[in-house]
Amino acid sequence: MQAALPEYEVYALRYATREAQRRDHFIGGDPHDGPMPMDYYVWVIVGAAGAYVLDLGFTAEMAKARKRTFLRCPVESLKLLGVEAGDVRDVILSHMHYDHVGNFDKFENARFHLQEREMAYATGRHMRYHRLAHSYHVDDVVGMVRLNFKGRVEMHAGEVEVAPGITLHPTQGHSDGLQSVRVHTRRGWVVLASDATHYYENMMSNRPYSTAFHIGDMLDAYRTLERLAPTPRHIIPGHDAYVMKEYPAAKPSLEGIAVRLDSEPIAPAIVLPETGGHYR
Ligand SMILES: [Zn+2]
Repeated sequence: MQAALPEYEVYALRYATREAQRRDHFIGGDPHDGPMPMDYYVWVIVGAAGAYVLDLGFTAEMAKARKRTFLRCPVESLKLLGVEAGDVRDVILSHMHYDHVGNFDKFENARFHLQEREMAYATGRHMRYHRLAHSYHVDDVVGMVRLNFKGRVEMHAGEVEVAPGITLHPTQGHSDGLQSVRVHTRRGWVVLASDATHYYENMMSNRPYSTAFHIGDMLDAYRTLERLAPTPRHIIPGHDAYVMKEYPAAKPSLEGIAVRLDSEPIAPAIVLPETGGHYR
């Protein structure tokens, strides 16, 4: 008989935000224009053997350079949950865009899980095009190349199990080597999409986010997320402000800072404005 899979705690930590409009977030714009802020998260998966961190956010300097509202350093946010960067053994990088990979130098004892295809993309021929390169910070990419030369990058070619109950799944399209994470929890499998869907609405309406490498792959990635999750409410988008309302605070003192994703949602499913239909 197979041993029962461990159940992990999963948290989303909101570290930055920016004001934006609905038209900014969909290829082709949006007929119902209005405000649609973008929140920036890192995620942490806590098990008996320690914490796995998904994505590392950006630094205060990067926030200033890109005019984002920096709420707190992602590394400081992790401390609020009792996770010290120096103790983390495994960091999972969904991709290497500037808002997911900064702060890597603060995780001195970690190895970094990345799709090989993402490294090929971020160091490959398409980076001559500003349209595709502007989401990367070249020093981050070079930093990961240096870490690879030190043997600290675990480059994967497709689906892989990082630990029992934690698996990585290619969901490319937004970048060519994007991956999402599936985690076994007390409420079943939770799928941390990261940028495979920035907002619930991208996936719900099959309208990809405006930063795109391959639109067909982005649409297929929505199907991958659906296949991996027992219900749509087990999928966590990468930048949706609704996540902070949808799930309970990690603890009362972390209201507005961290929510617990292995808890049942405390707010109704989001509704598509075009149809009035529920997500389910
Ligand atoms: Zn991205």
